[in-house]
Amino acid sequence: MKKLLSLVLAVMLVFGTSAFAETLFTPGVYEATAKGFGGDVKVTITVTETEITDVAIEGASETPALGGVACETLGPDILKAQTPNVDGLSGATVTSTAIIAAATEALTKAGADIAALDANRKDVGEETVKEDKTIETEIVIVGAGGAGMAAAIMAHQAGKDFVILEKMPYVGGNTTKATGGMNAAETHYQKEQGIEDSVELFAADTMKGGHDLNDPELVRTLAEQSAGAIDWLDSIGADLPKISFSGGASTNRIHAPADGSAVGNYLVDKFSEKLKELGVEVMLNTRATELIMEDGKIAGVKAEGKDANYTIKAKAVILATGGFGANEDMYTQYRPDLKGTVTTNAPGATGDGIVMAQAVGADLVDIEQIQLHPTVEQTTSMLITESVRGDGAILVNQSGHRFTNELLTRDAVSAAELAQEGQYAYIIFDQHLRDNLKAIEKYVKNGLTVQADTLEELARKLGIYPYFLTMTMTEWNEAVATQNDEEFGRTTGMNDNLTTPPYYAIQIAPGIHHTMGGVKIDTSAEVIDVNGNPIPGLFAAGEVTGGVHGGNRLGGNAVADIVIFGRIAAESAIEYVGK
Ligand code: ADP
Repeated sequence: MKKLLSLVLAVMLVFGTSAFAETLFTPGVYEATAKGFGGDVKVTITVTETEITDVAIEGASETPALGGVACETLGPDILKAQTPNVDGLSGATVTSTAIIAAATEALTKAGADIAALDANRKDVGEETVKEDKTIETEIVIVGAGGAGMAAAIMAHQAGKDFVILEKMPYVGGNTTKATGGMNAAETHYQKEQGIEDSVELFAADTMKGGHDLNDPELVRTLAEQSAGAIDWLDSIGADLPKISFSGGASTNRIHAPADGSAVGNYLVDKFSEKLKELGVEVMLNTRATELIMEDGKIAGVKAEGKDANYTIKAKAVILATGGFGANEDMYTQYRPDLKGTVTTNAPGATGDGIVMAQAVGADLVDIEQIQLHPTVEQTTSMLITESVRGDGAILVNQSGHRFTNELLTRDAVSAAELAQEGQYAYIIFDQHLRDNLKAIEKYVKNGLTVQADTLEELARKLGIYPYFLTMTMTEWNEAVATQNDEEFGRTTGMNDNLTTPPYYAIQIAPGIHHTMGGVKIDTSAEVIDVNGNPIPGLFAAGEVTGGVHGGNRLGGNAVADIVIFGRIAAESAIEYVGK
């Protein structure tokens, strides 16, 4: 006993008593997993007795634009803070929560007292004094969503000097949320697949879908330039060969990636890859705050970065900042009735470009036109793509009855849902449909689907009288067989019946999806002021603008808008600075 005491004393003398007092972990490597956005996120943490020395995060199925960024940024944050409880990445809440949960579990396995780690948190976001920097260039592109990145590729191809700013730590914006595809008429893909279509028909459908509130000239430009835009996408390796039907179209016109995956992530990945290949660096975490005017012309932008405040001098600015569907104050200012509605929008969609353009005299059009998407899962705000209905799914209410032609325009279907008891509905489909639409896997993985081997069982799980649901399904399958939907006059998305078990349901309701109004532009994407004149040097494209979609945007027209007008804005700015 005496011997042992003297040994302990000797060790204490060598290492000092503090080594004993500060032991926080059992040294080693610890792992834990948690459910992320499209599968598991694995966190591996290495600790010594007193310190977290390494944090490795793997999230193979996280979307590269959002969850992927969370995987990259949260590890260093945990390392720096020396606690798992760090701020999540906005826009990637599910992945961030999973990382924090797995890191907490791994550290608990290492014997950590998490509350003690929190109490000793090291500062992650130390305040630094920001430098003032001035950059001189020809064109500034504000926003790295679809429209901004398309414009950047064009500007680079034209050999122009430019910078592209993005306020979030990742690119993609709302474009990453686009699920269906891109509308385009008279494309080589349509011709190869024997689909008859015309620029006139595309324009007419868009006007009709928009309740004729759209600017007919912008719509005409959209339709005319659509086939060329598909060719351009081909040329940068972003092919959209899979054509199907989307609500409000007279023919098969929506172009999607070959494997049927969601168009938004696909294009954002392709655009990012292209920009990387061209050596274009997006200035991330850099928010434009103000447009600079000199002698009645654009002279640049002011922006705030993480480490510096910038004055960027340029002859032309392209606003590609997206809409304002994530800014509740702003949308309720124009639409008080929408207060409290869930949004499918990316967190950067806060209307900055609209506010900046207004400050230099820009006119706005259709600003109160806000689109609800009829199929949004309310607990996750996840959008259930229109392709599910386009491929044959139906909607039923809590009584098990259909209540609308499911492929009417989004506003009409949303209104029909809001008229049902509880203001929600279920989207119903079968295994055959799942097998043919890749997007569904994400819904299943995220636990949004209720699944059953029989319709009776599905009805019971949903709290619907089995008799009514089975009757509805029998009637629907007869309508598909005879291609005659007597009750609601649906004529599209009726190629396949719903008879292959297992059966699936997702509870959905409308959510804010797209702000159709915005800055007024002409067909050259020049921003128009309140007196009807172009603001020299100011161009805008994509969701920041108004006029293309009128009172209701057709599925597939947002992607068409960003690619087509993103390109036009770049062409106009290139020409303008060349003057
Ligand atoms: P679009 O579909 O029109 O391209 P997106 O929503 O996809 O619009 O992209 C707009 C992008 O602009 C988003 O990534 C958003 O974070 C970014 N953005 C918005 N406001 C600003 C700002 N003030 N400065 C820099 N980037 C911004």
